[in-house]
Amino acid sequence: MYLVEISGVVQGVGFRPFIHNLALSFDLKGYVINNGYGVSIIIQASKDKVEQFTEQIKLQKPILSKIESIHIKQIKSKKIFKSFKIKKTKKSNHILTMIPSDIAMCKECQEEIEDKNNRRYRYPFITCTNCGPRYSIIKTLPYDRCNTSMDKFIMCKKCKKEYKNPKDRRYHAQPIGCFECGPSLLLLNNKAQTVEVKNDKFIDKIVKFISDGKIVAIKGIGGYHLICDATNDEAVQLLRDRKKRPSKPFAIMVKDINTAKQIAAVNKNEEELLSSNKRPIVLLKKNKINNLSKLIAPDINQIGLFLPYTPLHHLILQKLDNPIVATSANISNEPLCTTYEEIMQMSSIWDYCLDHNRDIVNSCDDSVLFWQHDNMFMLRGARGYTPKYLNLPKKTNKNILSLGANQKSTVAITVKDKVILSPYIGDLEGISSINHFKSNIDILMRIYNFSPDIIVCDKHPNYESTKLAFELKSKNKNLELIQVQHHYAHILATMGVNNITSKVLGVSFDGTGYGDDGNLWGGEFLVCERNGYERVGHFKYFKLLGGKKAIKEPRRIALSFLFDIYGENIFEIKNNTVKSFSKHELKTLYQVWQKGLNSPLTSSCGRLFDCVASLINIKQICSYEGESGLLLENFYDANIKDIYKFSFDNGQIDFSQIVNQILEDIAKEENIKIVVVSKFFNTIVEIIFTMYKKYDLPLVLGGGVFQNRILLQLLIDKIPNIILPKDFVSNDSAIAFGQALAVINKDI
Ligand SMILES: [Zn+2]
Ligand SMILES: [Zn+2]
Repeated sequence: MYLVEISGVVQGVGFRPFIHNLALSFDLKGYVINNGYGVSIIIQASKDKVEQFTEQIKLQKPILSKIESIHIKQIKSKKIFKSFKIKKTKKSNHILTMIPSDIAMCKECQEEIEDKNNRRYRYPFITCTNCGPRYSIIKTLPYDRCNTSMDKFIMCKKCKKEYKNPKDRRYHAQPIGCFECGPSLLLLNNKAQTVEVKNDKFIDKIVKFISDGKIVAIKGIGGYHLICDATNDEAVQLLRDRKKRPSKPFAIMVKDINTAKQIAAVNKNEEELLSSNKRPIVLLKKNKINNLSKLIAPDINQIGLFLPYTPLHHLILQKLDNPIVATSANISNEPLCTTYEEIMQMSSIWDYCLDHNRDIVNSCDDSVLFWQHDNMFMLRGARGYTPKYLNLPKKTNKNILSLGANQKSTVAITVKDKVILSPYIGDLEGISSINHFKSNIDILMRIYNFSPDIIVCDKHPNYESTKLAFELKSKNKNLELIQVQHHYAHILATMGVNNITSKVLGVSFDGTGYGDDGNLWGGEFLVCERNGYERVGHFKYFKLLGGKKAIKEPRRIALSFLFDIYGENIFEIKNNTVKSFSKHELKTLYQVWQKGLNSPLTSSCGRLFDCVASLINIKQICSYEGESGLLLENFYDANIKDIYKFSFDNGQIDFSQIVNQILEDIAKEENIKIVVVSKFFNTIVEIIFTMYKKYDLPLVLGGGVFQNRILLQLLIDKIPNIILPKDFVSNDSAIAFGQALAVINKDI
């Protein structure tokens, strides 16, 4: 008798029926069962046969499964099996099973909903073993129907027959249902009244509303979307006004890949990614001529597109002539809406809501990705990609909980040799987002039956995540609390995804993060080793006039440099930056600068993009994070090879020297924007290259600044073997992973 144990993504992906059918074809006797690690198979057969059988498991495994390990062990048993069965699941405390992600509707299901003779013709919740919701409906492991939000739907006779038939493609598909027994739609108006829909024509009705220029809310897999016709200026403006989102680009859902190609340039990699069963939002280069409203992504040459991923989206898009705006339904900075109560709180934003009665247990936003030079990068890791399982350099017996940063937050736990990273949670501002953050910690702890020995957080005393870490520590004296420097965590994260543990030169460029000296770092060169780092270079500190306010106003950054350069003479100067302030504001800010009131020192590289955007009048006040960097991308000209002169003084680069040269260029009044932007990008690349040559170590990038596609491409071209946060995020969503690595590394 043999025991075969398989770990990896092997639950909720049709693994047991697959094993069952394979065992039948081998004429094996025994059983297969889910457990806390994955699946166990008991086989009564010769060693040769068991080995042949496991070979075929590896070769034929179900599409959505991922095998991490297979162990074969001989066991003693007197039991005689007469057949091969799927046994009911055991409870287990030591859980290392990977939770499958939510997967887009598969081809077979799509064919069925389009087939008039199929009993699920136009059923908006069709799923099978290979597709449908997973993470978003799981309450706990093991992944069985009773542990999901499908537990309240009692299967009808026909569904039950499919569920129980090992030859059926819905055998043990936990979320299955049909018109008779499964989830159903509900249409509401914004006064919470049910709108009567004749003959179940929900789709036709909602399509009519969208075509008429209404704003509708639609419940998807991991949350609600706000939706409107993407070609209708009035509808898009209405959505912007109601959502108080003046210019941040909207993501667009298109019915198929051909429609995507009419809107943007789509290469082979991007096409594959758009059509993959993860169906993320993919950032693409917008075609100059397209039929979208100009208000979708004003002044930006990129556009985020995605294809329908639920049967409901598919049914709606098939009936619509135009692409739709599909943006996460949330009040700015608050978490994504997942319940009826939450979407009702936003009823002033939408006119109608297409709701349904399958509960979202775990919220999960749409993922946002892009391709750059044969590498894939994430801006937001969520639906389809999370929870993410990352490797640790070694196994750990300590339970580590890392709480990440404050913006774009994620949390992570360690289980054996893995870090399990939560989906993107969002910014920690306001009580509901903090509660949402806590609930994400609870989800991971509950599913993995985890309680921490060590908590890791950022060094910033005012981060909500740091405050929570101290709160948890104060409640449990046995907990160890470790704080990890922000920019070091960025570099460790990129090292981690690339399995690098040797000494490197890390370039950690972002908005701001708390430095060891109490100043706000953000333009850092760190020589990093497994167990520590040395700060070998950075941008010379400048004042953030008004603290947080300066982060939203590029003109305050530029003004800070202009004060450095002109001092009191600033009042005689008339340039774009100065002109954007009233005389009174200028005087006040001068005092603020002189006395250093509410003006923390920073070495942030992200803010230098702001400075440039203000000096050449591209943006004085931002309406969303990273706006100035995105706008600068439009003005880069690859034919301009010049750079601005710079120097390192004790490892510090004084950006005022560069601002002086920018002012000289502006005075020349020729193609100012293109010249300045191109030279600025080239200069940042040259600064990095100079340090790379000096230290002669592998160069590792980390931090949100490297989401800038121009900068990324220039660096990839210039520096061979550059180590990138590929298949991962470079922004603060990466911090939780880096924090876990900092603790593990100390242990080695
Ligand atoms: Zn399917
Ligand atoms: Zn049914």
